[in-house]
Parts: sequence; C-alpha cells; structure tokens
Amino acid sequence: MDANDTRFSQSSGPSGRLAGRLAGRLAVLLPLPLGRLYDYLPPPPPAPRPEPGAVVEVPLGPRRLFGVVWGDGVGDLAPERLRAILRAFAVPPVPAVSRRFVDWVAAYTLSAPGQILRMVVSVPAALAPPKRTPIWRAVADAAAPAGFKWTPARRAVMAMLAGGAGRTQADLLAAAGCGTAVLRGLADAGLIALAPPDDGADRDGPPVPVPDWQRPGPTLSADQAAAAEALRAAVATGGFSVTVIDGVTGSGKTEVYFEAVAAALAAGHQVLVLLPEIALGTQWLARFAARFGVEPCLWHSELTPARRRATWRAVATGAARVVVGARSALFLPYPALGLVVVDEEHEPAFKQEDGVLYHARDMAVARAKLGQIPIVLASATPSLETLANVEAGRYRCLVLPARHGGATMPPVELVDLCRDAPERGRWLSPRVCQAIQAALAAGDQAMLFLNRRGYAPLTICRGCGHRLACPNCATWLVDHRRAGSLQCHHCGHTAPRPGTCPQCERTGLFAACGPGVERIAEEVAELFPHARTALMTSDTLTGPEAGATLVAKVLAHELDLLIGTQVMAKGHHFPLLTLVGVVDADLGLAGGDLRAAERTYQVLHQVAGRAGRAERPGRVLVQTHMPEHEVMQALASGGRDRFLALEAASRRELGLPPYGRLVALIVSGADAAAVEAVATALGRTAPRDDRVTVLGPAPAPLALLRGRHRRRLLLKAPRDVAVQPLVARWLLSVPIPSAVRVQADVDPYSFL
Ligand code: ADP
Ligand code: ZN
Repeated sequence: MDANDTRFSQSSGPSGRLAGRLAGRLAVLLPLPLGRLYDYLPPPPPAPRPEPGAVVEVPLGPRRLFGVVWGDGVGDLAPERLRAILRAFAVPPVPAVSRRFVDWVAAYTLSAPGQILRMVVSVPAALAPPKRTPIWRAVADAAAPAGFKWTPARRAVMAMLAGGAGRTQADLLAAAGCGTAVLRGLADAGLIALAPPDDGADRDGPPVPVPDWQRPGPTLSADQAAAAEALRAAVATGGFSVTVIDGVTGSGKTEVYFEAVAAALAAGHQVLVLLPEIALGTQWLARFAARFGVEPCLWHSELTPARRRATWRAVATGAARVVVGARSALFLPYPALGLVVVDEEHEPAFKQEDGVLYHARDMAVARAKLGQIPIVLASATPSLETLANVEAGRYRCLVLPARHGGATMPPVELVDLCRDAPERGRWLSPRVCQAIQAALAAGDQAMLFLNRRGYAPLTICRGCGHRLACPNCATWLVDHRRAGSLQCHHCGHTAPRPGTCPQCERTGLFAACGPGVERIAEEVAELFPHARTALMTSDTLTGPEAGATLVAKVLAHELDLLIGTQVMAKGHHFPLLTLVGVVDADLGLAGGDLRAAERTYQVLHQVAGRAGRAERPGRVLVQTHMPEHEVMQALASGGRDRFLALEAASRRELGLPPYGRLVALIVSGADAAAVEAVATALGRTAPRDDRVTVLGPAPAPLALLRGRHRRRLLLKAPRDVAVQPLVARWLLSVPIPSAVRVQADVDPYSFL
C-alpha cells in the first residue's frame, strides 16, 4: 500500500462521512486506491434509486467502472459536475456486514477502502449475466442426404440428441468422445443445428449441490463429543464467540468442526472454512465429501475464470452453502454467513505479503465479530497470539489430547550433528541412514524433511571466492539442477549456470555449498539405489492435480521415500509412513524473525506428526547442531506448554507480539539516495514518547529486492495504543516523491 493512499483512510472512513441527502446524490466506493467516496446521481428514470450495497456501473473520466453504493452522497462536488450512475448490475447487493468489513479492514491495515472492495467484488466478470451457451439439437424429421456416411461417432451423437434433448457443444463432445468435425459433418448434412438455449434455462450452470448435514458422522470419542457439543451450542446460540480447538495432529479436530458445520447448515447458514492454500488438497475435499455427500465450493488462486465467476455468484446469492478457501475467500460477499472455521490457524501462510498486507486469521475474527457469529480456530500448535487470547479469557479453548484410535505421537530423537556427523560432503548422519534402511527393509515408508528447495543455496567459485548473486536482489542464486538453472527465490530471476566465473573468468571451479532437497535426493539415490523416491516441493507440486497424483502414489505404496519441504508437512495421512528424518532442524532459527523459535517448533512438530499415524508406531530423527536449544528440547520431551510459556515470557519481557504491537514501514525505490532521504526523514519525524519506540531506519535484510533499494523502520507500542492513527499521521509528516514507496505493514510477520 502506498503511503499516499493512506492519507485518506485516517479520516473516519467512508461510512462515517455520510452527509444528508443532497439532490438525491449517492456516494459510491470505487475499486481504486483512492480512499474516498465519489458522488453520483442516481441512474435516470425509470431505473429505481439503487439501495446501499448495490453494485453499479459508473463513469470515471473516460472510463467505466463498477462501484458499490455506500450510502447517501457526501456533497463536496458542485451539482452541475455530477455524473449519473449508468446502471445497476443484476446481482445481490453487497451485504451491510461486508461493507462494514471493508471499512474496518481498510482502517486496520492502513489501506484504501477501494483496495479492500476489490477483494470483495473480486470477479468483475461475474457482474454481467452469464453468457447463454447455445446448444445443439437434432433437426426434426430431417433425413440423411444420399451417400451420407454413418460413422459410429455420428451415430453416437444422434443417439444423444434423440428425443429432442439439447446439449452444449462441450457437453456433447465429451459425452460422445468425438471431435468438432463430427458435429460439422452432421450440421452440413442438415441433421443437427445450433440453437439458443431454452428460455428459463439455468444461466449459472448446474445448481450448487447442498451438503447433506443429516448424514451421520463418525462415532466420536468422549473428548471429541464434548468439543463437538460445545461448538454446536455456539452455533445454536449465535452471536460472536471464538473457540480454539487445540489438539495434536490426528486427534480429530476436523471431524469435530464438521459437527459445527453440520449444525450451521441445519440452521440455514453459510459456512466458510479457511485453510492455508497448501492444505486445500484433495484429501480434505474427499473427507468433506465423505461426510456431507457433496464437494464444497472451492475458492483459491487456481480456479478457472468460469469457475470463479460461477462461485462468486453462488456465494453472493447464498446458493453456495459451504465455501472452503484460502485467505481471499474471507472477503466474498456472503449474505448469510453463520460460521467461520480457520484450520491450521498458526500458519504464516495466512499472512498476505503483497498488495494489501493482512493476516487472514485476524481479519476472520474481525469478520465474525462484525457479523456476530461464532468462529473456530483449529491447530495442533496454536500461535502465541491465539494462546494469549485464551489466557486473557477472550477465546475459549477446547483440548483434544489424544490421537484418534490410540495411535501415539511418535517419539522424537535428537541427532547431535557434532557427535554423529555425516561423512564429508554428505548430509545424512549414520543414525538416520540406518533408520531409513530399517524402515525400507520392513516395507514401510520414510520421509526426509529439509525446508529448502533446489540443489544448493549457494554457488561459489573456488578460484576467487566469487558467489553467484541475483542481479535484482541482495541474495544468492539457488542452484536448481533438475530445472538446469540458477534461480532467485525472491524475484524469480532465472539464469543458466555460467561455465566460467564472471569475476576471475576461470572455468570449472564452481562448487555447490550446502544442501537443498535435490541434493538430499542425490545422496539417497547413492545410498538406497532401489528405493522408489520422489521430491515433494512447490517445484514439483505445481497444482492440486500434481499434488493429488503424488499423494495417490504414496497411498498406493508406489513410493518408498519422500524428500520434501514444508508442503509435505500438511494434512496428509500416510498409513505406511513410519519414519521422519529432519535433515537440518536449525535452518529456521537463523535470522532476526521474532517468531523463529515458535515457527520452527510448529513446523517440526507438524512434520513429526506425519510418522506413525496408523497402527505402526512411528519414529522421528531430528538432526541438529543445537540439541540443547529449547525448541529441540521441547520436541524431544513433548514439553510444548513449557516451551510456549518460556517463549511467551520472553516476548512479554520485550514487549513484542502478542504482548505489544508492531508496525513496520518499508521504504523502497530504484534510487538508493531518494530512499535513504525518505527513510531518514521518517526517522526524524517518528512518533516517539515514553510508550512508543521506533527502531531504524536500517537497511532491510533484503536491502535490494526486484531492483528496489529497501530500508525499514519498526514502530513498537503497547497493546492498548491505537497505532493506526499514529502511523497515518507519521506518514503525512514527510513528503514522499512518487519514485519512492512507503509500505506500512501492521502486525508484520516478515522482517526481510
Ligand atoms: P486432525 O484434524 O486433528 O488432524 P482428523 O480429524 O484429521 O484429525 O482425524 C485424524 C484421522 O482420524 C482421520 O482419518 C479421521 O477420519 C479419523 N478420525 C478422527 N476421529 C474419528 C472418529 N471419532 N471415528 C472415526 N475416525 C475418526
Ligand atoms: Zn532476485
């Protein structure tokens, strides 16, 4: 978000500025980073005056835009300069609660309301009535001309159109398994013809199936039943409440919140389930389908345009009863939302890191509050933010202590890399190798976890010490051998591996430093040549399809060994997997991220939970150079709560989240001097008093990103300080040239 855009949102927000009706004018919010409402006249009669929430088309300069009627006009424009709304779209109005949510999120994140509106009306194509697809019909009483060849395909098509039924071309081709040439042949012969669809035909495609909430769920254990009952009661009572389900992996959290979903459906509500993008896999969908008889409506970045359009409309009309999606699903204009579930609530993936910077879990709680509805946060490793709210009595916590069916959490063994060191040039210790050997010999599956894509994170010239760096970012290029290239993980820059060193111009002296998953795969191939292995990273899981294929192969025991990054840690249930090896547990602890320890614990705990989920007991080996570190000790001893208490105490001591507030300002631009000047000026005008401190400006750890120089400032304040107005005033205190961008990140999760 540009600092320039924030200048408006510090005013009380659009809905606070409603003046009286002036010449019948209407205030319209446009999907632009303007931050202010624009006045328009109602559309000319006989069109009715649009109600608040109506989605309308308006002129803006030479353009036509959609906008949403926010209320009565503000009245700061002379009547003769007002233009009229062109038309209202035939879609349900954006509900009042969604409009209040837009204003709330804009104010909280220091964004322009128009930027948030763009996330609500995220599919402008859905505003127009859907195209009416023409259909093929058999021509009545037509006879084949002499010499017409009746191929099997032609017969098949005619059989499908027999009895007067019409079919769309796509449908017909798929059903008959033929190509368009067959249709053309029949049409040329006058046997079939393309016609407009029946009047009254469903314009939005097939109706959205309604989940059957009356189907029985599994018989719940006593703990599960108690938790389910509490959630059902929250749904029945209605009103705002936050319930945390804190249960180890496999304890049945999903089954329990499905009971709440059933209760909300029975009461006629819509339900939203937010999952980290990565967890939106086929396994979750299959479980939903097994429980409710149909698949839910999906919302994520990979939907086809047609699916997005249809789903947006189905949500807006209320036809979509259950939506499961990633972050952005939160902003859809639900008219009847009655329950929100955030699964894996601790996941950093819920923080949106570009465009509008927001945390979907926190915004979901705000949405539930505005809508006066219950929200459920589920996790095996709840965030400190959530636990602090439990402690303060704001959230209720339900604990599921045991894995379902008596499976136990696997014991975690620490492998001290200083004492049990891998051979030179290798990364797996003898103990891990033996464990893999044993698992494979027993016909089990194993998993090796390393949170680093590619072959090696650094390539260095042994002749002169030159390191291959990204030209656009202050970072090294990662060697991706399978793709045959060097890649920047920040800007996506890709280059072939150079033959000669760009600095000393000698050839053949490059050395790969450190391991990535591809390098571990290479080592495994040498050690266990007969094991069937696969890589599981975002490079290989290019979409839900690829993910489903790989998961199916694991389940069918067509693979023995998986090597992967944290995409592998999510939600999968692999009964034959008994061994998990963590290649480098220390990786996430480096750097200045305040949540590094918490995050490392969460990820490693989750990875460990993949082992031994069925009858066979699991084993987890964690390679570390720091076996005494509190994170490692917590993993090995199962002492999660002690670790969290320590972590919480140190955050409290330092006034860090969740016990204090942070707002980061990132100043960036192509011109280092201009960036420096703005950052220095912001440093001088920073709000400082005995409660509010500002650190910086300092060069960002990623001091160059996508060719832009970056400096950071960090504002720290106690929880009871309203930081947004402070920051908004601060941003106004310094003139910001257009070549420099100042981004405010409220509650930052990334400190790069
Ligand atoms: P979590 O969400 O806590 O990881 P799940 O809800 O995914 O746990 O449950 C783990 C596995 O145990 C799933 O395969 C689930 O179907 C099964 N399960 C959980 N509770 C029950 C139950 N009461 N009866 C039958 N199966 C259950
Ligand atoms: Zn780069």
